[in-house]
Amino acid sequence: MNNLEINKECGFLNLNDRQLNEVFCFSDGYISFLNKCKTERETNKYIIEKLEKEGFVNIENIDKIENNTKIYYNNRNKSVYAIKLDGDITNGLNIIGSHIDSPRLDLKPNPLYEDSNLTLLKTHYYGGIKKYQWTAIPLVLKGVVIKNNKVININIGEDENDPIFTITDLLPHLAIKQSSEKLNDAIKGENLNIIVGSIPNDISIKNNILTILNEKYGIDEDDLSSSELELVPDFKAKTLGFDKSMIASYGQDDKSCTYSNLMSFIESSNSKVVKTAIFSDKEEIGSVGNTGMDSNNFDNFLNEVLNKLEINKPSLLTNIYCKSIMLSADVGAGIDPNYQDVSERNNASIIGFGVEINKYTGSKGKTGASDASAEYISFVKDIFKKNKIKYQVSELGKVDVGGGGTIAYILANKGVDVIDCGVPVISMHSPYEVTSKYDIYSSFQAYKSFYEEIEKPCYN
Ligand code: MN
Ligand code: MN
Repeated sequence: MNNLEINKECGFLNLNDRQLNEVFCFSDGYISFLNKCKTERETNKYIIEKLEKEGFVNIENIDKIENNTKIYYNNRNKSVYAIKLDGDITNGLNIIGSHIDSPRLDLKPNPLYEDSNLTLLKTHYYGGIKKYQWTAIPLVLKGVVIKNNKVININIGEDENDPIFTITDLLPHLAIKQSSEKLNDAIKGENLNIIVGSIPNDISIKNNILTILNEKYGIDEDDLSSSELELVPDFKAKTLGFDKSMIASYGQDDKSCTYSNLMSFIESSNSKVVKTAIFSDKEEIGSVGNTGMDSNNFDNFLNEVLNKLEINKPSLLTNIYCKSIMLSADVGAGIDPNYQDVSERNNASIIGFGVEINKYTGSKGKTGASDASAEYISFVKDIFKKNKIKYQVSELGKVDVGGGGTIAYILANKGVDVIDCGVPVISMHSPYEVTSKYDIYSSFQAYKSFYEEIEKPCYN
């Protein structure tokens, strides 16, 4: 009677040599992607280069769209929406949405100052970080400065000959008071200051740094306020473990789902359904702003597609949304053996056990969650079952220990059937997050089968 129970087991168990090789090869591509794409701008660029190579056209460059066209929209270099018009768009879309921003440290608008014979840059953290994790590690500086409508790209730290940056922490010898403070209070946000120089010129150390920046980039101190400069860990994405089964890297929330989303979108082949990929920004701070999913830009993109197909009319987009299905491709929390008391074993994801499905997120009684309907979960599970994809249905952690959110509710509000579906992560939001290579590949297979699904959920 064993087959009545859920079969939870490690995905690596039943792989033959060919399948194991596929899992490992896919992860090699993912690791190389992670090492190129630490920021949302880098990821945005990577996605567009890949899409263009596959024949996708920027919607702004065409006036009339034919069926079977492949189109993308570049939203201010920080989010991308893409569509494959393989079928009748009025029947609804198969959408998969991931996000390309990750927690990090941003420079303040006026970051540069001198103190105790050092020059430093002040930061304001972005997203949910544990501040102590960002001290005493190597950091690289990436982003843009905009001056006179010109983009000055800055990328310092990853080249072997580059300097890196770091935030100091107090030596244990003098940290008796700090060590007794609460974890969250021990490192203050205003102490997340990056050391950047120590040699004075004839005016000051700060002036010497400004001189160096001016010689190299042609910028002055005021230009730093029209910049988006981010500090991210210098760590390279690497294979983890004696058995090489896992990956350790910065930014796997949500680059893991982003990579699987992109690759499955490109490789998806069913010619009867319209497929749409979302790569959004600002998820980590609530999907706000005109590059976040809460803006009208995605609606605008689809309306422009309908305009250029010359079929648009009032309420058409709303009707399309109500016939659309979506996976919100975002990561979840895998059980951490060191901190298993926050997980409820029956409903926790285990890394290596396959892609996870989350009916809801939110906190304190599901507040803020898009709670997917039973009909839709059954529909999604059936897709995975018929395509022999190993999945686990889970939630983030025990009731009332915390919570989280994704972009799921935003599309659900438009009328789309949405459920969260992604990769379980350990050490999420840390500078070095851990995933299983099996789950990365499993999410790719899951997303590909979802893009190619013809059926619709059934509400009797
Ligand atoms: Mn996420
Ligand atoms: Mn996150």
